[in-house]
Parts: sequence; structure tokens; C-alpha cells
Amino acid sequence: MPTVRPALILALMLTACGGPFMPRSECPGFGTARVLGEGELDCALVASRMALAREVLVSRGLVPEEKFASAFGDVTVWVRANNEPFRCDAEKDEAIMGGCYYVRAREILTTKDMETIVHEMLHHWQLAVLGIDPDGPMHPGWTENGYRDADVSFRRVVFGL
Ligand SMILES: [Zn+2]
Repeated sequence: MPTVRPALILALMLTACGGPFMPRSECPGFGTARVLGEGELDCALVASRMALAREVLVSRGLVPEEKFASAFGDVTVWVRANNEPFRCDAEKDEAIMGGCYYVRAREILTTKDMETIVHEMLHHWQLAVLGIDPDGPMHPGWTENGYRDADVSFRRVVFGL
């Protein structure tokens, strides 16, 4: 009788439900395709986070306004039920994070307060839209091109960090 490792079972479950968790709630995408919640989502809060994220990206010239809709219109955002850091790939023993971006699925996974949404949207912009190699450095040019500042600025406005 072959034994099945728990990590494999989890991986199969993730595949079966098509995402990192079975969504309990859903909000409009507010610029993305949709926002799915592991717990109950406050769609007004999601709307304000997404509006601010868009403003940060557009006002700094990182994403041209006229390209925003096509760039993010097919991205699904998954919002966890809590703010605990987590692993982006349950099968790998990698660092724990506050957010993930899955280039092939065009999915963002973030914590309940969506602190990392701008950060993950920038990953999407670079990897999926600009076509930068996802197997290359994780944050290519992020200091020089202002991505890091945008990420920090969003967190500062929302959370007063
Ligand atoms: Zn990153």
C-alpha cells in the first residue's frame, strides 16, 4: 500500500478548488477581475484599498492609466482571513510572506488587510505585462524604478507605518 504524504494531499486539494482556499465571500474586482475572501470580506474596505493601490501605481507613472484595465482586468485577488504571514507554495519549505503572486494563474494572494496588494500588483505588471523573466531576480530594479517606494508609500498611507 503506497503512503501519500500530507503535502501531496494538500497540493491536490489546492488544485481541486482552483486556488489557495475555498472562497467564502466575493467582492467586485475594483480594477481586477474579482476579489475572493477566505473569510467574510468588507467590500467597501476592499474598494478603498484597490482605489488607493491604483492611485499609487498611476500617479507615480508606474502603470499608465490607459493600460490599467487591460493589465489587471484578468487578475484574481485572494484575501486570507487573517494577517499571519504564510508560505506561497505549501509544498516548498520557503520563506513565509505577507503576499504572493502566481504568474501562470494570474493570481494574487494577500493577507486580510491587503497590505501587500501594491507589491503583488507590481509583480504582475513586471512579469505578466512587461514580460520580465519570472525565473530571474525577484525584484529586478525595484529601487531604481520606484517600485519599492510605491510599495512603502501604500503601506504608510494605509497603516501609518
Ligand atoms: Zn516581492
